[in-house]
Amino acid sequence: MKPKYIVAGNWKLNKGPAEARSFSEGLSKHLGNAPVKNVDIIIAPPFVSLSALKADGFFIGAQDVYWEDKGAFTGEVSAAMLKELGAAYCIVGHSERRMYFHETDRTVNLKTAALLKNRIRPIVCVGERSEERKAGQMYNVVRFQLSAALFDVQIENPDDLAVAYEPVWAIGTGNVATPQQAEDMHEIIRQSLEKRFGIDIAGKIRILYGGSVNDANIAGLIDKEQINGALIGGVSLDLDKFLSIINSISQRER
Ligand code: PEP
Repeated sequence: MKPKYIVAGNWKLNKGPAEARSFSEGLSKHLGNAPVKNVDIIIAPPFVSLSALKADGFFIGAQDVYWEDKGAFTGEVSAAMLKELGAAYCIVGHSERRMYFHETDRTVNLKTAALLKNRIRPIVCVGERSEERKAGQMYNVVRFQLSAALFDVQIENPDDLAVAYEPVWAIGTGNVATPQQAEDMHEIIRQSLEKRFGIDIAGKIRILYGGSVNDANIAGLIDKEQINGALIGGVSLDLDKFLSIINSISQRER
């Protein structure tokens, strides 16, 4: 059986607790307070809004985590703390964190391991920059990011991990990858996962596409065999558009 799709909203630095609460109530109401049969829906708000989400029918996600359990690490949040707030998923290695906050492949690896230890599912983000694509280096770049992120990582179940292919040039730019560009990269990611975890597990790990996904372009992307869902930034802030993406995916057979 094919795995469930994932539709994940990355709110970035948007929506404080009050707005998050009202969005989540609206979302749950539209979902009839129940999960969608073939789609896992995730909302990843800022840390301060995690406990404001009323998550009926969707999962709570975090946007980042620190790898130590506790200690003198001012400003950081541990995986155990996220777990206590109900987080089931956590994004790691988002290109904005790599770009603005000095995230490295090594810290992505530490974070991934800390999440798994605390039974939170990492959504590991990988993706090349525009100049790397122009130089034909995109597959090497992504293979390397993925193998570094998953160094020494063990999973028991394909649901324990998701990977998001997010070409940096597509994030927040309106320049969505073509379905074929995304599919080709997802195929590369799948092959890397097969080498790492074996065919049975790797075949069921969800690989999401992210980068300027909207309600108009989702159909073409999700048509592709290797695209198991979407990580959505800007458009996930708009409930109607987010619901429309969920609807178009949920109508597909799984
Ligand atoms: C993201 O930041 O993960 C993302 C995909 O953003 P956007 O959908 O706005 O391009």
